[in-house]
Amino acid sequence: MSLKYRSIRGTRDILPGQSEKWRYVERVALETAATYGIRQIRIPTIEKTELFTRSVGETTDVVQKEMYTFEKGRESITLRPEGTAGTVRAVLENSMLSDTLPLKLCYIVSCFRHDNPQAGRYREFTQFGIECFGNSLPTADAEVIGVAYDILTRLGLSEISLEINSIGCPKCRPAYQQALKAYFEGKKDRLCKTCLERLERNPLRLLDCKEEGCKALAADAPKSIDYLCDECAEHFAGLKKRLDSMGLAYRVNPFIVRGLDYYTKTVFEFVSDKIGAQATVCGGGRYDGLVEELGGPPTPALGFGMGLDRLLLVMENSGCEFPPLPGCDLYIGSMGEDENVKALTLATHLRREGFTVLCDTVGRSVKAQMRYADKQNAAHSCIIGSNELEQGVVTIKRMSDGQQTQVALDGEAFSQYLYGEKAEEIART
Ligand code: ATP
Ligand code: MG
Repeated sequence: MSLKYRSIRGTRDILPGQSEKWRYVERVALETAATYGIRQIRIPTIEKTELFTRSVGETTDVVQKEMYTFEKGRESITLRPEGTAGTVRAVLENSMLSDTLPLKLCYIVSCFRHDNPQAGRYREFTQFGIECFGNSLPTADAEVIGVAYDILTRLGLSEISLEINSIGCPKCRPAYQQALKAYFEGKKDRLCKTCLERLERNPLRLLDCKEEGCKALAADAPKSIDYLCDECAEHFAGLKKRLDSMGLAYRVNPFIVRGLDYYTKTVFEFVSDKIGAQATVCGGGRYDGLVEELGGPPTPALGFGMGLDRLLLVMENSGCEFPPLPGCDLYIGSMGEDENVKALTLATHLRREGFTVLCDTVGRSVKAQMRYADKQNAAHSCIIGSNELEQGVVTIKRMSDGQQTQVALDGEAFSQYLYGEKAEEIART
């Protein structure tokens, strides 16, 4: 059969089997954030284009090549390429900065970027992110990094390495940019076309280029940490001290600048060697100027975005364990209409108690029902026939060892039985 419709390049379907893994990772991320007092925000998928060009930056790959932008009426609208801009917009629009600071938020959002699709790089992908507003001290940076670290550790990813850098502030960055410009100026003939343009408008961006030629040149470029003003240097030292005190191992990588323009001072990445080139699982940093840039009061802030698609790939490639798939507790077979109605009544009662229960809904023969129960991996099964209905008792079979138990044909008796089985199972394991 030739398919009439296929998913758009760079997008994927997450099927049962995989979706449970997603839910597990999302739950761990949200629960870990909650241990830091971070609460979830949900923001729209679309925003005014200008929100992103302003915050992400005109000279970034995201704005120059990757945004999904369209006109509707007189408005230019963009599918969010990241979560920070929308979160800042929401924080300002809902006057959230007038509450006690710091304000700490997290989100799970799908993001859209016209990227070059390959393993770990998609056009629609999902980020878990956190944003923290109103704290300029390095303790906040350490805490934000700590959240990412805790999530990765809880998921069993101990081999991911943390890399940090400081890219300075508006006070010290001009001198650094000057030095970068001078360095690349003499190597213009070896830069890619985009970088030639970046050289004039935003030399820092040259360090983020993915072209091999530019990457090689960047290796010997001046380092931002050598140009920090006293305040930024002190902040960076403060961060390192706190990471040490939390027992988080890190490496200073002087060439991390991150792909978005709004960062100041701290930038960091969690990098894995398990998925080839698309190795950054989590990236973030401080963006002390962004809230003001978007029309709010001067507010120090910081956060990170964790690519969950990549994270799951790394987990799979590292042999991380996922929780077992939830099974079917009981299959209630039946022969005849009254028996089928009884099965439905029992199933309804048990489901409300939280058990996973299946019964026949398609009029299968008893033999076919039992085959189906087997396929569904039912832990227990029973068959209600006219005898059982008349006497009000049925035999439930435990499928693992064939043990049979007589149980009254009644919701309460069934749930007693299943609770008992669960308790026994817990005691066994
Ligand atoms: P890269 O350099 O890999 O393109 P980036 O600098 O564009 O990353 P950020 O904008 O900082 O990435 O996004 C944070 C995280 O989101 C990344 O570290 C990555 O895990 C994930 N991510 C970014 N783009 C994609 C994508 N196209 N597909 C899947 N995950 C992505
Ligand atoms: Mg990118």
